[in-house]
Amino acid sequence: TSIQEFQPADRLDGIELSEIVRISEQAARLRAQGVDVIALSTGEPDFPTPSHVVEAAHRAAIDGQTRYPATAGTPTLRSAIATEAGARPENVVVSTGAKQVLSCAMMATLNPGDEVIMAAPFWTSYADMVSLAGGVPVVVSCPATQKFKLTPDQLEAAITPRTRWLLLNSPSNPTGAVYSKAELQALGAVLQNYPQVWVISDEIYQHLSFVPFTPFVQAVPELAERTLIVNGVSKAYSMTGWRIGWGIGPAELIKAMVAVQGQITSGACSIAQAAALEAITAPQGLLAERRQAMRARRDLVVEGLNAAGLECAVPDGAFYVFPKTHAKMATDHEFCRFLLDEAGVALVPGRAFGMPGHLRLSFAYATESLQEGMRRIADATAKL
Ligand code: PLP
Repeated sequence: TSIQEFQPADRLDGIELSEIVRISEQAARLRAQGVDVIALSTGEPDFPTPSHVVEAAHRAAIDGQTRYPATAGTPTLRSAIATEAGARPENVVVSTGAKQVLSCAMMATLNPGDEVIMAAPFWTSYADMVSLAGGVPVVVSCPATQKFKLTPDQLEAAITPRTRWLLLNSPSNPTGAVYSKAELQALGAVLQNYPQVWVISDEIYQHLSFVPFTPFVQAVPELAERTLIVNGVSKAYSMTGWRIGWGIGPAELIKAMVAVQGQITSGACSIAQAAALEAITAPQGLLAERRQAMRARRDLVVEGLNAAGLECAVPDGAFYVFPKTHAKMATDHEFCRFLLDEAGVALVPGRAFGMPGHLRLSFAYATESLQEGMRRIADATAKL
């Protein structure tokens, strides 16, 4: 097929450049024109990757760890992840970020028309990943009144004979909602009656929970045999660019995901895997430090947004807050436009996460930027 003849496949209908990428590019364009823009749009911690992790990568490169890595992940990293999770190496696949873990799971398991239940607001890529793999995203709206969390009744109503997965994310992007042990158990109780439904528990923000965090399989061990846990180093260790994530699940599922991965990327970068190994096996004091720093930022932005008259649920984890659109603005999109033009602050409209009428603000930025952002938002909204 020549470039001119290229036609996107039908299943790509509606799949576009991520709204977050679009907003961030727009902010960068304005900056290049000399406009002073504060972007609070990306889920990427401003802290640097710890120096001992960078040094481990350097050593790996010098030591010649530069050949094709094993498709499922280097044996040392796979084992370290398995040991930490109380699993075996064959239960672990290491991929190019948690994003690729999720994608491989969809590609390995979905037949055309298979359904994946997800609570909205959801992380932007979930629905598109399901569609790209030929599946059907089943989006269940979970408004602020239920703290953006899926209820057992909603789950039961969404299940059909075509349901393959329930996709959970706690702490959540974009709301910071964290499911309690009891809430996970209540969802698990529903799934006991539907053996065809498996669970993906995306726990990438596990170490950034401001309330006690319960891993899904700890709450519902009976479902461990049909659960895929997704995690990685991007968020907790400030390693977004290293692209290392992993899945932990039943060996048969992992084997199928590794087969998919083998045909797509041949496994994650060997040097980045050496860095990730150092990150998760070195003393972990840094995690609590960063969690505390994020918590202080959370308090700063919640107070700032409330002072600007913007209603928001207090996030219990991750580094996002999901306030409602200002009452004087017709849509989330219009409000984002207004904040960019009038305040020079870039946020992401809620519709990108399957819930219009809200905005997502990331507080993974330096305190000074957050303070200035809050001041600008308050000044601009005061004019409305
Ligand atoms: N899952 C959620 C909920 C996320 O917010 C993100 C990144 O923003 C990912 C997965 C992907 O993480 P990674 O950088 O490991 O691909």
